[in-house]
Amino acid sequence: MKLANYVNGKWQESSVAEYTAVLNPANGEELAQVPLSTERDVDIAVKAAKAAQKKWAKVPAPKRADYLFEIGRLMKQKKEQLAQVLTKEMGKVIEEARGEVQEGIDMAYYMAGEGRRLFGETTPSELADKFAMSVRSPIGVVGLITPWNFPVAIATWKSFPAIVAGNTFLWKPATETPMMANEMAQIFHEAKLPDGVANIVFGSGSEVGTAMVEHRDISVISFTGSTETGRKVAEAGGRNLKKVSLEMGGKNAVIVMEDANLELAVEGILWSAFGTAGQRCTACSRVIVHKDVKEELQNRLIDKIKTLTIGDGLDESVKVGPVINQKAIEKIHSYIGIGQEEGATLLVGGNILTYAPYNKGNYYAPTLFTDVAPDMRIAQEEIFGPVVSIIEVADFEEAIEVNNNVIYGLSSSIYTTDVNRVFKAQRDLDTGIVYINAGTTGAEIHLPFGGTKGTGNGHRDSGVAALDVFTEWKSIYVDYSGKLQRAQIDNEI
Ligand code: NAD
Repeated sequence: MKLANYVNGKWQESSVAEYTAVLNPANGEELAQVPLSTERDVDIAVKAAKAAQKKWAKVPAPKRADYLFEIGRLMKQKKEQLAQVLTKEMGKVIEEARGEVQEGIDMAYYMAGEGRRLFGETTPSELADKFAMSVRSPIGVVGLITPWNFPVAIATWKSFPAIVAGNTFLWKPATETPMMANEMAQIFHEAKLPDGVANIVFGSGSEVGTAMVEHRDISVISFTGSTETGRKVAEAGGRNLKKVSLEMGGKNAVIVMEDANLELAVEGILWSAFGTAGQRCTACSRVIVHKDVKEELQNRLIDKIKTLTIGDGLDESVKVGPVINQKAIEKIHSYIGIGQEEGATLLVGGNILTYAPYNKGNYYAPTLFTDVAPDMRIAQEEIFGPVVSIIEVADFEEAIEVNNNVIYGLSSSIYTTDVNRVFKAQRDLDTGIVYINAGTTGAEIHLPFGGTKGTGNGHRDSGVAALDVFTEWKSIYVDYSGKLQRAQIDNEI
């Protein structure tokens, strides 16, 4: 199966005949060929998006929302089909794939509701017989650049608020997971979204991504990916005076205090550390534990990790699927050596699964380190795989300090039964997302999603906050006094 770009409501072959294979990470099977498009393809798509945007912005917002209701309905109707494709190309277990598709459906309905809100403000004027209000205006053509680990949900966090607000978009999915984008193109088409509102161009970050960030007719870039790439996007976007929204890496921790319900904490750690084989931006990769319960927590985790079933995510009994590709396997494995050289103790895992039935796919054993010092590389750098480091602390204050002392700021969690600590923690943990008595994953679409420090640049995906990325504020003054009234001068008491 050869994929084609979706531009101006049609599937169009890329201008060059270069393709790369999309492989199933569970077994290496080739699923499709994805085109490596060029700057020229980006330009063609942006022209279509620009022409469509003028008309789209004039469609009443509740009518624009009707298309989103239809997109949500189609996604719901095709939920199982979408989940199967997702698991095949990305590897996450089928239950999680269904959850990710559900997130997209929720986002469609939530943002469709915004078609009848998109609230601005009315406010009194300081002058008599004058009216003042602010409204949200669409910005134009927006560029969406997404990673492979959430191939559909992240695209919906970005594209749905963009279009309900009156923008058109060009989306570049990751080359590892283009099939979900192709499924979405089909849905946009079936929903009869007007030509040019949704455009998808496949290709590499260095060619297609760069061309988007440099394109003068793209006004906003909404990017999710690694901090390293995000920095490049920010630099180029800044040079071109674009609005750039960045959602990047994480080094998320679960804090377990001595008064915690340990059984609950173990469940939360397992789910947030080894779900999606640790390849979530919010995955737990550090456990910061009070010294009094370290031993017990550690032992409980070892026992549970040994029971996790690893395999092809299409098998309903599997809890941990493969990681995305061989490059990821190598990166994860390199951190085992780094951790051991730094003095950490490997408790479980630390190996590539090379024997049958795992030898055809990219499988890494769920891994647990202990005796990890907060400044070790395994406790500071994003590994993006099923590897967790246990860090011992003496008290609550030290736990907060260790949590905050990383360059990232996406998600954090604390298990405690002390209400005073709960409130202090939610105040003092410096991440964009905080969980109390739950693991580090589990965001809901109607709240802002994003992080501080090296994770983000102040914008948010999801929730009403996403609209701030895709709209400009316009302040409007209507003077119905029939005379010149000067602000700050003619209103003296
Ligand atoms: P990545 O940075 O390699 O790629 C992300 C996207 O950027 C891809 O589509 C890629 O093709 C594109 N890209 C690469 N170079 C580019 C360039 N120079 N200009 C423009 N675009 C370019 O990330 P990845 O490996 O696909 O995803 C994993 C990373 O994403 C992890 O760091 C993870 O934490 C992060 N992530 C963050 C969030 C969040 O919301 N904070 C969510 C999911 C994933």
